[in-house]
Amino acid sequence: MNKGALAPKLKLSLPPPDEVALSKFLTQSGTFKDGDLLVNKDGIRIISDKHVETSTVIKPTDNQLSLADFEYVKVIGKGNGGVVRLVQHKWTAQFFALKVIQMNIEESIRRHIAQELRINQSSQCPYVVICYEAFFDNGAISIILEYMDGGSLQDFLKIVKRIPEPYLAAICKQVLKGLWYLHHEKHIIHRDLKPSNLLINHRGDVKITDFGVSVVLASTSGAANTFVGTYNYMSPERIEGGSHGYRSDIWSLGLVLLECATGDFPYTPPRPEEGWDNVYELMETIVDQPEPCAPPDQFSPEFCSFISKCVQKDPKKRLSANELMRHPFISMYDHLDIDLASYFTAVRPPPATF
Ligand code: ATP
Ligand code: MG
Repeated sequence: MNKGALAPKLKLSLPPPDEVALSKFLTQSGTFKDGDLLVNKDGIRIISDKHVETSTVIKPTDNQLSLADFEYVKVIGKGNGGVVRLVQHKWTAQFFALKVIQMNIEESIRRHIAQELRINQSSQCPYVVICYEAFFDNGAISIILEYMDGGSLQDFLKIVKRIPEPYLAAICKQVLKGLWYLHHEKHIIHRDLKPSNLLINHRGDVKITDFGVSVVLASTSGAANTFVGTYNYMSPERIEGGSHGYRSDIWSLGLVLLECATGDFPYTPPRPEEGWDNVYELMETIVDQPEPCAPPDQFSPEFCSFISKCVQKDPKKRLSANELMRHPFISMYDHLDIDLASYFTAVRPPPATF
């Protein structure tokens, strides 16, 4: 079991809701609380019981937060585990993403998983997607997440095909800050870093999501065989089933950046026109072939060096998130004052939810 799962609960605050949401909300009165989630005139926030002024809290039993407090808007994504929907909180009019993971496992294990998710995903970092609550609902776990109106980097990449280096450096800086937080503050290995788990918004924010999910699933005997995600970004040591640590996330980061830069997943099947025969062929290639690199004729020496500091088959040769923050690639385009907000919204205007 991941030690981070036992981390103390954190006091967190959301940025204030937008004016419209706030004015609607102010017509309501009262405060209600469910677990670590507190809703009152200041919006919604996760709180530690220790930090709550008793005068502002109504006991959980007095006014339970439930899925019924959220209104369905539309489906915004589908993964292997389930569906992600845009929902709106009825009191505050704030938008959230509701992720539902179908799990055909017994009630007690599901309850345990939701509890772990709640603790693992309480987050104080602007570079990771906030998980507000986890519920049981009809044999599924429902997670209320911060809504990222730009979708995932995978969605974005489908449109732009390639991301130029200066933008990639700005994106990478935020991902490294998120990874630094997960690794050094929360002691969590993400284990499933990939373009669809990096979410973006109209403010130019890039945030890591779905950390802890694979930890929880892997640590639950009933769910041990439920991994149906992609092996594409998995480090060689993890594929081989050996011990793996924080640096396996760094491998994944390197592959993600290389794919964003070149527009293609860095490994090609032995017969490219036929694609991968099966997942074992892909896994064998990652373990047996030399690590991929950025073509030096197309990219700066700094970018090529950065990739090679991440994509090393020997995890000891990879740099840590902290060390990568100081790599020259990260600051080489600082003078350009890159505006990710304009870049993201020009390509993909946000839906009219804000
Ligand atoms: P897999 O199931 O293999 O991990 P995935 O990461 O694409 O794949 P999900 O995590 O279920 O699967 O996400 C599906 C899609 O839903 C994402 O690609 C993204 O477009 C969208 N999405 C997920 N979470 C959010 C969120 N918090 N805000 C906005 N969109 C989201
Ligand atoms: Mg995901």
